[in-house]
Amino acid sequence: MSEQKTDSAGGRSSNESVVAAYDDYVTPIWKSLNVPVERASGCTLEDADGNEYLDVFSGISVTNVGHGNEAVVDAAKEQLDTFVHGCSYVHPNEPVADLAERIAEVTPGDLQKSFFCNSGTEAVEGAIKLARKYTGSKEVIALEMGFHGRTLGSLALTGNKAYKQGMAPTINDVAHTAPPYGYRCPRCEGEQCDADCADELERVIGSHTSGDLAAVVVEPVMGEAGIIVPPEGWLERVQEITHDHGALLVLDEVQTGYGRTGELFASEHFDVEPDILTQAKGIANGLPLGAFTAPAEIADAFESGDHLSTFGGNPVACAAALATIDELQGGIVDDARERGEWLGDELAALEEEYGVVGQTRGLGLMWGVELVEPGTTGPQNVAPAPDADLAAAVSEHLREESNVVMGVGGYYKNVMRFQPPLTITRDQLEVALDGLRSALEAAT
Ligand code: PMP
Repeated sequence: MSEQKTDSAGGRSSNESVVAAYDDYVTPIWKSLNVPVERASGCTLEDADGNEYLDVFSGISVTNVGHGNEAVVDAAKEQLDTFVHGCSYVHPNEPVADLAERIAEVTPGDLQKSFFCNSGTEAVEGAIKLARKYTGSKEVIALEMGFHGRTLGSLALTGNKAYKQGMAPTINDVAHTAPPYGYRCPRCEGEQCDADCADELERVIGSHTSGDLAAVVVEPVMGEAGIIVPPEGWLERVQEITHDHGALLVLDEVQTGYGRTGELFASEHFDVEPDILTQAKGIANGLPLGAFTAPAEIADAFESGDHLSTFGGNPVACAAALATIDELQGGIVDDARERGEWLGDELAALEEEYGVVGQTRGLGLMWGVELVEPGTTGPQNVAPAPDADLAAAVSEHLREESNVVMGVGGYYKNVMRFQPPLTITRDQLEVALDGLRSALEAAT
């Protein structure tokens, strides 16, 4: 066992001692740990040895208004001094009331009533329950390669064996339809996906369900699958087919919500109105909070006692969320949209410059760089996905040589992810791009 080492302030004194304690006392959950963090501010992470890193991953797309955002920290501190917990479903309190009202104002369409929980996966679980209760139907359809969480209900929706191995059975009556993954869509055979690809949903309903459909659950831009943006008209067609079958459209905005895609919610890029919207991650800039929001008519299908969470809607997290929304609406989202357009152009150039870059795609400040087998770049669907080691090596090079923390994702674990705090400056993005270029050179 590791010897506990502490500094004069009572904290652990080195990266080594933090990692050693993880080995001994924290359930192993991730193959390779990233940079240990002692403190963070803006887009900068500092480790226990005093090294600084530029963070372009925001703790998996969470700290949208910057690490340690002063307004959010102040709001949380004030609430800490006032009232921390009473169970928000037992003791009504102002932060929950204010946040629920605010979410009704800022979310698209008729969305009105929110249920608060503590994470993304819980938001998805609750949305499935509500859809079943409202429609009286049971079955759910999600997208192949999609990600909705790791508890057993949401895991059933997650369309990736890698997360399910050894964990089955999950919940029953879940089917999957094709994602709008133009780069590797078998149906399009080298052409770009279009709205017609959504018709696959009709086929899946016909052949993989009994027709007793409660919900279709979709990420408007797929995050963990590799930042996949649907083609024009695709999501609208999904909505139409879903409603034709009497089911609800659940948009999972856990990753895309709260400014990430250059609008407060990614749904706003499309002509759709979710029947249930799931949220978490960026909602409170790092304090644990999740939510699902529905029009009153749908939300009221829940009767007293149908759903509850002891910690859900914690007043401190809700106060932080209110301050986060204020910050986002104070110009951060608009600025991020502009910087995202610039970043998109810069990334597109990499497709020409590097043989290992197959496709770059994204919206706002949510961008993916899909790597392919070195030397095989050709028309889409031709370049094979590389071994997961390639993206891991690029990420390691970025961290070790340029002090940049960048995420890796994608169904094939071959997509570099730019999902920085939305407050990132153009200069900081240049640093990350330079680091990526040098890492790609080393990998080619
Ligand atoms: N839905 C989506 C779209 C996500 O990206 C994630 C997390 N990556 C989740 C749900 C699950 O969120 P959490 O890890 O907070 O449970």
